[in-house]
Amino acid sequence: MGNYLRSEILFAAGVHPARRPQSLSDSELNELARQTRRIMLRSYKTRGVTNDAERVRKLKAEGWPREEYRFAVFGRSGQPCFECGGLIERENLSGRRCYFCRSCQPL
Ligand SMILES: [Zn+2]
Repeated sequence: MGNYLRSEILFAAGVHPARRPQSLSDSELNELARQTRRIMLRSYKTRGVTNDAERVRKLKAEGWPREEYRFAVFGRSGQPCFECGGLIERENLSGRRCYFCRSCQPL
């Protein structure tokens, strides 16, 4: 799986990247599985755009360039979260960069 998909799926599922699988509830695991399928299909269909489709439509209409509307969190450290306005953070996990929103993905 592409590194950007990891950040985007965890964000869509509301799961903090430092969470361990065994710490997740059944509903969190189900949501993670659902979002994994959903975001990967979306990425395939849109050639790599994983941000929410309605949000992308609005941002495009406002003239945002692809690199700025493409992702919900990936590569957006220091920028406001599209959902809550909190700042997107970046951490290195297992040697790969991961982006997340601390309020939308509580630890
Ligand atoms: Zn947020």
